Amino acid sequence: KAFLHRIKTVEPYIDALICTTEDYALKQAEDADKKIAQGIINDLTGIPVIIKDNMCTEGVKTTCASKMLENFVPPYNATVVEKLAEAGSVMVGKANMDEFAMGSSTENSAFKITKNPWDLERVPGGSSGGSAASVAADETAYALGSDTGGSIRQPASLCGVVGMKPTYGLVSRYGLVAFASSLDQIGPLTKDVQDCAIVLNAIAGHDPKDSTSVDKRRKADYKEFLKEDIKGMRIGYAKEFFSHGLDEGIKEAIKSSMKIFKNLGAEIVEVSLPHLEYALAAYYIVASAEASSNLARYDGIRYGHAASNYDDLIDMYMVSRSEGFGREVKRRIMIGTYALSSGYYDAYYNKALKVRTLIRKDYEKAFEKCDLIAGPTSPTVAFKIGERVEDPLTMYLADVYTVPVNIAGLPGMSVPCGLSKGMPVGLHLVSRPFDEGVLLNGAYAFE
Ligand code: GLN
Repeated sequence: KAFLHRIKTVEPYIDALICTTEDYALKQAEDADKKIAQGIINDLTGIPVIIKDNMCTEGVKTTCASKMLENFVPPYNATVVEKLAEAGSVMVGKANMDEFAMGSSTENSAFKITKNPWDLERVPGGSSGGSAASVAADETAYALGSDTGGSIRQPASLCGVVGMKPTYGLVSRYGLVAFASSLDQIGPLTKDVQDCAIVLNAIAGHDPKDSTSVDKRRKADYKEFLKEDIKGMRIGYAKEFFSHGLDEGIKEAIKSSMKIFKNLGAEIVEVSLPHLEYALAAYYIVASAEASSNLARYDGIRYGHAASNYDDLIDMYMVSRSEGFGREVKRRIMIGTYALSSGYYDAYYNKALKVRTLIRKDYEKAFEKCDLIAGPTSPTVAFKIGERVEDPLTMYLADVYTVPVNIAGLPGMSVPCGLSKGMPVGLHLVSRPFDEGVLLNGAYAFE
């Protein structure tokens, strides 16, 4: 009730939510009370959560911030939603986002623009901007986001909270509305690193309903990695991170963070990721190609927005899609369709896949020398609302540091590491596949 009250108070300023699920929450809270009365209690019993609106919630609208799904009520829960409910968590609302998770500022939502709680004239980042802002504004104890190229870590950085994208395959994608299936992962946005470990414990694990989810026989307890001791841990930093476009204030914050690691007894080693400069280009080919294929299902017939005025079947498809999708989504569909068309496939899509392999190999090589790679999460602090909407290429640059991690399928995390121009800065940590424990250990000691 306290959180629902808080939502009522601050939501008119923040606009982080597409809907508040008050009745649903009170019912879940009642169930949690009953469990507690029976002595059944764990880390998440009765703890409020906000879910990004691209994860299916049974009986509760799941819009993806798109007119296409404005009235879509899923008949089932995403696996993560199911797991959190089983853990006793209480869903208080669904978070605003960029339409179909395409964007870096949450300005691509068809419904509203979320504001950064630190400065209401600035964006919260994206695409999980509603999730990050809701945690920063205390509308919830934690939130779930999805990250295809940085959509958990970049908004976490811009809103001064912790955000983690787990290794590809660690968390089930069943019930997550697909954007780019080979890159998408669900992860937590939390107040601190301990909460991140707690939420990861609840959502990680094999799911037979997601064929890309990994079957790890022994499930880790991530809380065991919350240790202050990181003596001897090797932290890599790549000179490629400090190229042009990085704000001076952020550079300073990252340098100070490296000093903190050193003082904690970690060893700082220089690594090189030579193919990093091609990551963004490869990402926008691969992600758009997969998006164009995934979004083909919205044809106005099976489900989603259907046109009411049309001439024939083909026209019905066209009008439904023209009306249902926003500008950025259409742009991605066109880029993706182009990159996959015969005659261009080898020049673009296949080439991007080769770059993907090179980037993965860069990381493999770097991790021979270190246990974690540290750098900036975002090249700038939160920018002003409206500043980049007319310039998609500048907008795409917001993900320059986060995208390579999705390309390589690795776990990555953003942890607050100071302020620049009065706005939060995030430190980006990356580890080997399924080394979330090492990631949490490093982040916990640093925090
Ligand atoms: N901003 C990137 C994009 O627009 C990443 C989005 C995401 O991670 N979902 O594609």
